[in-house]
Amino acid sequence: MSGQESLRPRRRPTVSVDVGGVLVGSAHPVVVQSMTNTDTTDPDATAIQVARLAHSGSQLVRVTVNTDGAAAAVPEMLTKLADLGVAVPVIGDFHYNGHQLLVEYPAMAAGLAKYRINPGNVGAKRHDENFATIVRVAIEHDKPVRIGVNWGSLDPQLLTSLMDVNARLPEPRDARDVMIEAMIESAMRSAELAESTGLRHDRIILSAKVSRVRDLVDVYRILATRSDYPLHLGLTEAGLGMKGIVASTAGLAILLEEGIGDTIRVSLTPAPGGEREEEVRVAQQVLQSMGIRSFLPQVSACPGCGRTTSTFFQDMALRIQDHIRDRMPVWKELRPGVEDMTVAVMGCVVNGPGESKHADIGISLPGTFEDPVAPVFVDGKLDRTLRGDGLVDEFIGLLEGYVERRYPVPVS
Ligand code: SF4
Repeated sequence: MSGQESLRPRRRPTVSVDVGGVLVGSAHPVVVQSMTNTDTTDPDATAIQVARLAHSGSQLVRVTVNTDGAAAAVPEMLTKLADLGVAVPVIGDFHYNGHQLLVEYPAMAAGLAKYRINPGNVGAKRHDENFATIVRVAIEHDKPVRIGVNWGSLDPQLLTSLMDVNARLPEPRDARDVMIEAMIESAMRSAELAESTGLRHDRIILSAKVSRVRDLVDVYRILATRSDYPLHLGLTEAGLGMKGIVASTAGLAILLEEGIGDTIRVSLTPAPGGEREEEVRVAQQVLQSMGIRSFLPQVSACPGCGRTTSTFFQDMALRIQDHIRDRMPVWKELRPGVEDMTVAVMGCVVNGPGESKHADIGISLPGTFEDPVAPVFVDGKLDRTLRGDGLVDEFIGLLEGYVERRYPVPVS
């Protein structure tokens, strides 16, 4: 594993920002965050969803604070969360009226762990004044802010002025390049304004979200060269299902591999009835697949082919994966290191024994016309062979035994 450590992407140096006890930036692990989609005026529904997101591994959870009713409900929601025993820092997402709400609802301002400000949505006429008001509230309550530029709500005055300058150039640049420059300018100017208002340098996180992968990569590559503020990564409006997952993964992976990004969110549109926690699981899987962080033991399963005539091994892989996911909340508390465990469930003799030997524990099921036996490998060595109808339960029993031996409960 030590060789793998050395191959991990080196993080771009940033300052460390404390968000309600979760440290973002510097050498701290990349933080996974998410956002609720409940009506914040409903403190029960929001507290439950925040708790679910936190339970699934979201280290920071953002909630919309868009109206008086939402602002007034935040303290009650935070109390309910505390009653549930959930200590996740909650971030307020403000647009248009954040300067009013944060002043008029001091209990809400005090309870939130961070404020997200979109500099394109703080008001055109009194832009700087409104922005400075939010920053002053952050200073008063000793909170960090995220200056979150979004290309869908880019500061129109700034964009227009950069477009005008560009139009007067002998060889005007592409409009896309100007848009990217405007996003970066908006973030950097806002950070300067925040610091000149009195906010500490280590109280600022930046983001500049777009909805196309290429734009995301270009924006963040440039932004990363302009300052040492921690960067929050995410593809905005990533979309539904597979499209959203693939697009987010593609963009995040390129940047994370270059050492860019201190906190991430995967903005998925849930399918009707789908779970909001899906975005947390995808973000964790991106980090784990890249060898950046470990959250859950990984099950390697072959895709199956003509050598497997039944779906038995697919069902088995799913059962083992579900078993691990169900057991993880307990294992995580009691058995440090278990999140690094690897398990292989393979369909036949072609790659099965080899892959199983590379895993901590693995099983290679018999393919068509092979002997009806399933060799089990533990720490790279053949441990035993299983056969018959109880094979899955037996393997799960071996897995439990392996976890107990390999990841013992520390003696306190
Ligand atoms: S391990 Fe065997 S069953 Fe699985 S994909 Fe490879 S050849 Fe097919």
